[in-house]
This record gives sequence, C-alpha cells and structure tokens, in this order.
Amino acid sequence: MPPTDSTAVAGQPAIRFENVVKKFGDHTVLDDLNFDVQRGERVTLIGPSGSGKTTILRLVMTLEHLTGGYMFVDGEPLTHMEVNGRRVERRSKDVARTTQKIGMVFQQFNLFPNMSVLENITEAPVHVLGRSQDQARARGLELLDQVGLADKADEHPTRLSGGQQQRVAIARALAMDPEILLLDEVTSALDPELVGEVLGVLRDVAKSTDITMLIVTHEMQFAQDVSHRVLMFDGGSIVEEASPDVMFTAPENERTRAFLQAVL
Ligand code: ADP
Repeated sequence: MPPTDSTAVAGQPAIRFENVVKKFGDHTVLDDLNFDVQRGERVTLIGPSGSGKTTILRLVMTLEHLTGGYMFVDGEPLTHMEVNGRRVERRSKDVARTTQKIGMVFQQFNLFPNMSVLENITEAPVHVLGRSQDQARARGLELLDQVGLADKADEHPTRLSGGQQQRVAIARALAMDPEILLLDEVTSALDPELVGEVLGVLRDVAKSTDITMLIVTHEMQFAQDVSHRVLMFDGGSIVEEASPDVMFTAPENERTRAFLQAVL
C-alpha cells in the first residue's frame, strides 16, 4: 500500500527504514537498508567508522535526503518519496510536524554562543512550539536541574566545560518534548574525564522516560546498559542484530567479533 500523508498510524513503528539507499555521488553509503525502531525502544548502532551510522541519524533528522527507498516516522512518510513510480509529496508543514517529534544531540554541542544557557533551552519551545516565556523558562529550569546544571542558567555556554555544554544540549533537546531522540556520538568530542557525567545524564533519561532512542556511540558499556537492541553495521548494511547481552558477549558474525575485539 503506498504511504499516504495522513496522521500517525496506530501500531506503526516509531521509525521505519524500508529499502533505503543513500549515495554521496557515486559512493553508496547505505545499500537497501531495512529496519524498524519500535515506540519506546532504545536501539544502538555500532560499527566501524565510515559504515554509515551518522548518515542514518541525519536521514531521520531530514538533514540528508534519501537516494532511494522509504522512511516513515509513526507510520507517516518522513518526506517526499517515490512509491511504485509515483511521487508522494508532503507539504513542508507536514514534514515539520513530523520532524518536531524528533530531537537530536550532536557530537559537537552546537549551542547558540550568543545566548545564555537558559535561552538556548527556551528558544525553540517559544518560537517553534509557541510556549510562553514563563512556561518555557520554568520547564528549562526543571531540565537544567535534571542535568545537574541548575546554577548555570544565566551562564554563557562558552564558559562551560564540554561535558556541561553537552548536558545543556541534552536539556535543549528534551525541552521540545521529543518522542524520538537521536544521539550521535555525543561523547566523542569530550575529554575522557567528562564522558561519565554526560552518559550518567543519558542513563537517567533512558530510565525515567519512554522516549524512543536511536543511538550511535563508541561507548560499549553505555550501549550495553541502555539499549534494548544493538545493530552492527558494516559496509552500509546490518551484519548482525542482537540484544546487548548477546551482542557484547557472544556475537555470531565474524565482522562483529573483529570490531568488538578492536574497541573493547
Ligand atoms: P559513520 O557514522 O559510521 O562513521 P558516516 O555516516 O559518517 O559513517 O559516513 C559514511 C560514509 O559517508 C563515509 O564514507 C563518509 O565519508 C561519507 N559521507 C558522509 N557524509 C558525507 C557528505 N556530506 N558528502 C560526502 N560523503 C559523505
């Protein structure tokens, strides 16, 4: 059945990749990729550098466009697609309605340098969701408390450590009440001693919410602790899919074993 531009379809996965192909020029990064992430599920993507993990997150965030195949969020087509030779158009306001459900935290924190910590967090809720300043500030302060930075609300982001900046970025993503949170190597740019505080915050978020999470990380212990399912990527395809316990203790695929041996 071709996808239609209707409202969310009950019982559909939070994210569906169907025959997804992504090329950059002649370089095929994702080759006929199929996977679902169920609502409330936390799925981690592991695999060697360059295997296409970040590209997957960027496709979900509509920061990249599909070369082929289909992507759905809550059963709705994420963006324009060709279906059975027919082009499915989505109005940009419908795409925006879907992407509003999705939050992303990047490797580089990408905070607005000219705003205070709290302004970073309240900007989108006020301007995108139409919340009042008071409402957004109250929620922002609550989130800053949750990430252990209640005393930094009026601080300038550049005066914070990398770990603190990343915790602000997490609070900023949560302030939009996302149904789906994408985490793209969120500790890779941090000094080793700052990694723990960021992963601690994310463990709390995972434990205390039912937000669907799609995670790319090199922190294998973290992946094991928070994931319901782990997908091993290599060469643009999933080579193994397993529960974290199986993936990290008894992987079946030779490439998974070699990868884990190299990183653990
Ligand atoms: P991973 O996250 O697994 O390290 P990426 O998704 O970042 O892998 O990259 C997969 C491949 O796609 C790499 O070969 C990378 O060089 C290439 N790539 C990613 N983004 C672009 C881009 N904007 N233009 C050209 N090539 C890109």
